[in-house]
Amino acid sequence: MAPQVKYTKLFIDNKWVDAKSGKTFPTINPHDGSVNAKVAEGDKADIDAAVSAAKKAFHRNSPWRLMNASERAKLINKFVDLIERDFDYLSELETLDNGTLCRTRQMFISMAISSARYIASLADKVEGATTSADGEVFSYTLKQPVGVCGLILPWNGPIFIFLAKVVTALAAGCTVVVKPAEQTPLTALVLAALSLEASFPPGVLNVVNGFGPTAGAALASHPDVAKISFTGSVEVGKLIQQASGASNLKRVTLELGGKSPLIIMDDANLDIAVPYAAHGIFANQGQVCVAASRLYVHAKIYDKFVEKAVEMAKTLKIGNPMDPESHHGPQVDEDMFKKVLGYIEKGKKEGARLLTGGKRVGNTGYYIEPTVFADVTDNMTIAKEEIFGPVQSILKFDSVDDVLERANNTTYGLAAGIFTTSLDTALQFSKHLEAGVVWVNTYLHMSPQAPFGGFKQSGLGREMGPKALEAYLEEKSVYINLPKKFGN
Ligand code: ADP
Ligand code: MG
Repeated sequence: MAPQVKYTKLFIDNKWVDAKSGKTFPTINPHDGSVNAKVAEGDKADIDAAVSAAKKAFHRNSPWRLMNASERAKLINKFVDLIERDFDYLSELETLDNGTLCRTRQMFISMAISSARYIASLADKVEGATTSADGEVFSYTLKQPVGVCGLILPWNGPIFIFLAKVVTALAAGCTVVVKPAEQTPLTALVLAALSLEASFPPGVLNVVNGFGPTAGAALASHPDVAKISFTGSVEVGKLIQQASGASNLKRVTLELGGKSPLIIMDDANLDIAVPYAAHGIFANQGQVCVAASRLYVHAKIYDKFVEKAVEMAKTLKIGNPMDPESHHGPQVDEDMFKKVLGYIEKGKKEGARLLTGGKRVGNTGYYIEPTVFADVTDNMTIAKEEIFGPVQSILKFDSVDDVLERANNTTYGLAAGIFTTSLDTALQFSKHLEAGVVWVNTYLHMSPQAPFGGFKQSGLGREMGPKALEAYLEEKSVYINLPKKFGN
C-alpha cells in the first residue's frame, strides 16, 4: 500500500500555512505518472514570510541564539531520533515522490542519519584562536553563525541533501529557509513536522515548496538571506551566484553537476571493475551527480570489458521501486525521461554503438532500460553533456598520458575513478585527476568524515567533513587594548 501523504502546506514559523496566493501544484509518482498530492505553491510573498520568521529566530536574544551549542547538538540528535523512528515511512514516501529504489533510498537515508549525527557532533567544537597580534593588544577570533540561510534542494536525494544542508546550518547556529525541488516536496514536509515534534523554536527551520524561477529565485535574491547553499544544475548555480552578487553578496555554496571519468587500466581486476562501473552509472537510474558517465577502458581489455558490461546491464531487474527485488526504477519525471531518451537518440545518430537498452520500458511511468554504448568518442554529445540517466558510455584509450588529458578535458570536476592494481598508477592519477573526489578500485563511496564538493564548474565550497560548519560561519577578529607595561 502506498504511504499516506500527511503534509502538503508550507511550514513557516512552526505553523502549517497555505500559499498566500492560494495556489497548489501536483507532485507526481514516477512509477505510473499519477498525482501523489497537491502541495501549496509558495512564491515571493511566502519566501518573504519565511525569511522574516527565520530572521526573528536569529535575533541575538532569541531562544535559538541563547541556546548552548551542546544543547543545539542535543536538539538536532532528538530530531534525528525521530527520523530514525519514522525511517520506513520516510523511505517509502521518498520512493513515491522520486522513484528511488527501495534499496537505494535505505542506503541514502542511513547515510543521511549518520552524517547528521556526525555534523551535530561538531556543533560544540567551533573554536576560535588567540592570535599573536602585533601591538599592545590581546587578540582572539570568534566564529559566528552567518545568519539566515536559504537552502535550495534537488530531487535526486531529497532526504539526504535536506539533512546534509539543514543539519550543518543548524549545528553552526544559523536559521534556515528550505526550498525543496518541485518534483519532491513530500519528505521535506515530513522532516519539517519532525522538527516541530523535536521542539525547535519557531522560525529556526522553515520549508517553502515551490518552483525555481519563483520561490527559489526569491530566496536567492532576498536581502535578508546571508547565505545560499544550493545543489542542482550548473545553469541554475550560475543564476544563484548572479542573484547573490546583484542583491547582497550572499555567501554561496554550490554543488553542481558532473561528467565524471572512470578509468579502467589493463591491469585492473575486472571482477570488481565491471560491477562498480555498472553501479557508478546505473545507481539511482543514473540520477547521481557523481555518476561514472565517461568510462575509459584500456584498448587491451576493451572488448572483454564491453562484453561483461553488457552482460551486467542485462542482469538488472527493472521494476516498481517499491519492490525490494527491483534493481532499476523509473526516471524522476517526464522531463528527465524525455531528456534521457533524447540523449540516447543523439548517441545513436552520432555513431556510438548501442549494445543493450536504449528504449522505454512499458507504457506507463518513466522507465528507461539500462543502456550501454560502446565506441563512444570524446566529441560525441553523450560524452560531453551530463545525461543524468542510465546510459553507460564506453570509450577506448591506449596510453596513460592520453587518458589523463582526456579525463580532465571537461568543464566539470566533481568525481573521478580508476581501477588498477598498480600503486604507482593509483597515486599518480589521484594526484592529477581534476575532481573533488577520486575513487580507486571503488566507486560512489561516501562518508560524512570526508569533505565533498567540486573542482571547476562542478561547484564552489565543500560540504561534510570535519570543517563542514565553516561554510556557515563568519570569522571575527577581536582586539583588546592591553598595555605591555603593567605596574612598575
Ligand atoms: P534540475 O534541472 O535537475 O531539476 P535545477 O538546477 O533546475 O536541477 O533545480 C535544482 C533546484 O533549484 C530546484 O529546487 C529548483 O526549483 C531550483 N531552481 C531552479 N531554478 C532556479 C532559480 N532560477 N533560482 C533559484 N532556484 C532555482
Ligand atoms: Mg532545471
